[in-house]
Amino acid sequence: MRVGIGFDAHRFAAGRRLVLGGVEIRGHDGLEGHSDADVVLHALMDALLGAMGAGDIGEMFPDTDERYRNGSSLELLRKVGDLMKENGFVLVNADLVVICEEPRIAPHRDNMRENIARELGCEPSRIAIKGTTTEGMGPAGRAEGIMAQAAVLVDG
Ligand code: MG
Repeated sequence: MRVGIGFDAHRFAAGRRLVLGGVEIRGHDGLEGHSDADVVLHALMDALLGAMGAGDIGEMFPDTDERYRNGSSLELLRKVGDLMKENGFVLVNADLVVICEEPRIAPHRDNMRENIARELGCEPSRIAIKGTTTEGMGPAGRAEGIMAQAAVLVDG
């Protein structure tokens, strides 16, 4: 068994789609970034790569690579899932925290879990996602952006 942790943060940017956990959340500013800036999936991928001892997403998907511009992070997650399989790793569970004042995460949680489970080839019950605020403190509290943390356990 091997554990991994991941963290990511992106700032809000007007005129971009907001995509969290592969779910497009309408009626809200999106996040700045090279890909779709899905901060939830980025934290998760870093945790998975960390658990495998396989570097990080910056190495695997460089932001200088035009293939990933505005690309779907779900597709990147699928590549990380493929790498897990190739190396004989199976996800035991993933626990994710999304830190922001808005939007509310709970209404989208099950769709996010299903997206992640589909790309990793596991049951949604192995993926937990919760939202929290910082009660107005810090960059998340000032609604400057969204942060996410991930912890994973893999078997392999
Ligand atoms: Mg990122």
